[in-house]
Amino acid sequence: MGPLILIAAIAAVIITAGVRYYFREIKGNEQKTHQCLHCESYELVEINRDTKGSRTVESVGGGTMAGGDVRLQLDYEVTYHCNSCNQNSKYRITKTF
Ligand SMILES: [Zn+2]
Repeated sequence: MGPLILIAAIAAVIITAGVRYYFREIKGNEQKTHQCLHCESYELVEINRDTKGSRTVESVGGGTMAGGDVRLQLDYEVTYHCNSCNQNSKYRITKTF
């Protein structure tokens, strides 16, 4: 009975980590996929990226002795060129490191 619970616990940890990784990947892909503001096409090519601002954010409740970790957050303004209608679309992106 003992080892079985241990195996189940390890499996649960692995599954949890896998699910987290999976959702993080989906979220990352969502941020990359933008739609043209003019024709709603997804045929966009990034042509410019400006850093508009940066700040440090502290994640609270991380459960660490240090009291969470400090992360760098950057604001980008990304310009995409649409291959369908040849117009540009600008997007604001916030990225946390
Ligand atoms: Zn377009």
